[in-house]
Amino acid sequence: MADLGYGLSRVAVVGGGWSGLAAAVTLAERGVPVTVFEASRSLGGRARRVSVDGVDLDNGQHILIGAYRETLRLMRLVGADPDRLLLRLPLELRYADGFHLRAPQVPYPINLVVALLRAKGLSFAEVMNALHFMVSLRARRFRIEPDRSVARLLDDHKQSGVLRTHVWEPLCVSALNTPVDSASAQVFANVLRDSLTGGRVASDLLIARTDLGRLFPEPAADYVKARGGAIELGVPVRRVAHAPGGFRLNDAQPFSRVVIACGPHQAGPLLVQLPELADALARIGAFSYEPIVTCYLQYPESVTLPAPMLGFNGGIVQWVFDRGRLGGPKGLLAAVISASGAHEDLPKEALVSRIETELKAALGSLPTAYWSQVIAEKRATFSCRPALARPDGATVVPGLWLAGDYVAGDYPGTLESAVRSGIAAAALL
Ligand SMILES: Cc1cc2nc3c(=O)[nH]c(=O)nc-3n(C[C@H](O)[C@H](O)[C@H](O)COP(=O)(O)OP(=O)(O)OC[C@H]3O[C@@H](n4cnc5c(N)ncnc54)[C@H](O)[C@@H]3O)c2cc1C
Repeated sequence: MADLGYGLSRVAVVGGGWSGLAAAVTLAERGVPVTVFEASRSLGGRARRVSVDGVDLDNGQHILIGAYRETLRLMRLVGADPDRLLLRLPLELRYADGFHLRAPQVPYPINLVVALLRAKGLSFAEVMNALHFMVSLRARRFRIEPDRSVARLLDDHKQSGVLRTHVWEPLCVSALNTPVDSASAQVFANVLRDSLTGGRVASDLLIARTDLGRLFPEPAADYVKARGGAIELGVPVRRVAHAPGGFRLNDAQPFSRVVIACGPHQAGPLLVQLPELADALARIGAFSYEPIVTCYLQYPESVTLPAPMLGFNGGIVQWVFDRGRLGGPKGLLAAVISASGAHEDLPKEALVSRIETELKAALGSLPTAYWSQVIAEKRATFSCRPALARPDGATVVPGLWLAGDYVAGDYPGTLESAVRSGIAAAALL
């Protein structure tokens, strides 16, 4: 890498989430000296381990899919073997009310046809409508012009009934973390394209068998350090300024290049210091955000679900994960509520009680939980709206890149979009 006359060629990455670590790993792989600054005391950002009273939990359940090509590649690179650390399941939507759809690991379109024809709970008319919808999306190469809401797209293609409530709507909310009325049909179509038509295993669901810290952030940090990089925890970057041949962070350290890999709402205070970045700042300023609530409930060890991940419909709970079947403590369930909704108005105790009631109603006799823990991520992801203008990773400031799940790309706010943006920033450097 060119030394910019500053007597150094070290790159700074601001943020130790999955995007920042993906950038750092890619730079370290190519022998570029890199320092990662992370404001908090732990790595992983919005996909991290949290310890509560000595129990290791995650800040939220994270599902990867087989189409997360770059995330899986980097996991392998840093020695976090996806085959060991992730439970791989064929795409399966299994609900407590009996609905069941399972896609076999065969190429498109056989996977979809077989899944729909064998699904328990879909009428023949719904199956035909679904196939017609997918054929039509494919014919237009999954391009939605002009972009519109997912609800509009589903209306346009007469997707209704159980097909809508148990397949398309939950897939949209899980993938885009945005309610169907305001989610981008184009981004939803991108996810369907890559997962359903992207090869035999692209639609597989990959669920962590370990905590999120061990899944990638910690092995990534070890990889970077082993190649001469540095990881500075508990060091927020508050100042970024031009300096001869590069940038100066926190009025102290000079760096030749900088990757700003903070969450979108956290990047603003840094971007505002460089007036050339007004456009990126304005785009981020126009974002709105969606929450994800996770409620952990510890039941007696004998409590298990019929599947590692079970769908719920008609209440506030959307998915429940059986952590005991995923390498965690037996009897530990994690109920997930993605995107904004009526649940946000409930005080914590009322929320837990409502979740317990819904679980009991759907699963039959269930003892009272020993303890519960609610983790609410208010800004889990940006709201993935139609035709949203996202800033590019490459900026008008030479030597400064943005990385994060929110930068312009095909995917919604996900681990894969974060990782791809980090790799792209590093590659451009
Ligand atoms: C509860 C929940 C569930 C989710 N489920 C899924 C899922 O199932 N599948 C999926 O693919 N995605 C999921 N996501 C989304 C995924 O977690 C995010 O898209 C991804 O983690 C974003 O990574 P990032 O690096 O872009 O940003 P972040 O994770 O936000 O990382 C930014 C980092 O920068 C640090 N930082 C900020 N400002 C500064 C500063 N000034 N100086 C130094 N450091 C700073 C922050 O502390 C943070 O660690 C979920 C998210 C949440 C919250």
